[in-house]
Amino acid sequence: MLSRGRMLVVCALLLVAPWTHVNAEESPEALFCTLIPTLEADGERANASVAWQVGLGPRLPGSNASTALLDGLEARHPSWSFERDDHAWSSTGLTNLVAMYPPNATLEQDRAFGLGAHYDTRHIADREPDEANQSTPIPGANDGASGVAAVEEMMHLIPGMDLDHAVVVVMFDAEDQGETPIIEGSRRWADNLTQSERENLAGFVLLDMVGDASLDLANITSNHPSLNDVVEPMAEAMGLIDGREGCSGTVNKDVYQPETRTWIGDDHMRINAVEVPAMVIIDHRYGPNATRLADGYWHTLQDTPEHVSAESLETVARMVELGLRSGAWMEAVAPQEPAPTAPTIEEPDQDEPTSEAEGADGLAGPLGLLLLGWAFVVGVTSISAVSIVLLRKLRPPPVSSTWSWDEA
Ligand SMILES: [Zn+2]
Repeated sequence: MLSRGRMLVVCALLLVAPWTHVNAEESPEALFCTLIPTLEADGERANASVAWQVGLGPRLPGSNASTALLDGLEARHPSWSFERDDHAWSSTGLTNLVAMYPPNATLEQDRAFGLGAHYDTRHIADREPDEANQSTPIPGANDGASGVAAVEEMMHLIPGMDLDHAVVVVMFDAEDQGETPIIEGSRRWADNLTQSERENLAGFVLLDMVGDASLDLANITSNHPSLNDVVEPMAEAMGLIDGREGCSGTVNKDVYQPETRTWIGDDHMRINAVEVPAMVIIDHRYGPNATRLADGYWHTLQDTPEHVSAESLETVARMVELGLRSGAWMEAVAPQEPAPTAPTIEEPDQDEPTSEAEGADGLAGPLGLLLLGWAFVVGVTSISAVSIVLLRKLRPPPVSSTWSWDEA
């Protein structure tokens, strides 16, 4: 039998295996510091997008304002391809806008990362103190327009980023309708992804309420943990965590608060529900003195452009940009890449010198030697076969099967 000590060593090697190629290169922190001065996301341009969207009027499902918004997004980003994803819903229907870069990429065939926001705005200002105003639609400068604006910034920049994967952008309809927000557009989109589309979509970052002039980002517990873990080191490098030194060595802003943990229901949950890792970046304390969703400008008529700032939009857009340029978002979900059923002992594919093959190379030495030595000591072929079966069972399962989001 395989001794307990040897099993532990083999287990440890197998657990480390998927990440060895990351550590062989520049550390993530050093890479962030190299990239931060090169970030290009433009807060003023994003802020102009907020003003444009709010100027269209409330973006209610099926409204002329919604159609004008989607037409405008297509016109403003000609290097992307677009599809409108229509679904029967209520009396109006709902329409998600799906954009791809490169324009000939498809989720069916190409590895991609996802970005998105809801573009609809709440039909009622049900958090207004004055009851007479509670049935009025909100302007949605932060709750709606800010997420779209920050994602739009990425759409401007991605064609120049030379990424080694496609990007799918989804602008979701019907997140914020109903008695309590129904999160319906993302459900329709996620539930209609095919098996291969889900497998090709490595992960998804949603932006919602990211323009608050008083920006406070919490640690969101409904996020997929692997993606969520990327936020803290990036925020630290960018100088956004109070009391910690960023790359520039200056005193940091108090923007990202890793110790403030809160659960948020949003479009990302619909995507997590179909086992695609997803997370939201959101400021749930909208307003200078807000301590939670319900005591600021959220779902009130005060959700106006004057309460949104170019600086906040730029901060969040640059964090997303940093994750894309560094590969941090993709690396975070890399263990979920397809072909998890590969045998544990296999010659690296010499025809395809990809980074994954390099990772396998780095592992082949120690693991191969260990297994050879062990086989020699035991000297019984039949027991080797049994151990290989054991080793397969010891491989860590895909992350998607090890967590759940029912912690409400
Ligand atoms: Zn809302």
